[in-house]
Amino acid sequence: MIKILIYILLIYIVYKVFRSLVTPSGSSATKSDGGTGSFDDIMVKDPVCEIYFPKKDGIYLNNNGNEIYFCSKECRDKFLELQSKK
Ligand SMILES: [Zn+2]
Repeated sequence: MIKILIYILLIYIVYKVFRSLVTPSGSSATKSDGGTGSFDDIMVKDPVCEIYFPKKDGIYLNNNGNEIYFCSKECRDKFLELQSKK
């Protein structure tokens, strides 16, 4: 009886591996920004905390014609604060 369960488990693992080989763009965990990906996933760098994040999730700021993206509103406020001190 246990042998059957092991067989089922093996078949399941093989099936999972096969699935991941056939459809590599399924999970987001192993996703890398290759050339074929959508442009929504462009990674930009936060100039304040220097963290990379997806552009679509960023806080947009137009700073004298420069497009700047921040990871959070806190970083945007910090950036503006630093700008105003200069
Ligand atoms: Zn930040």
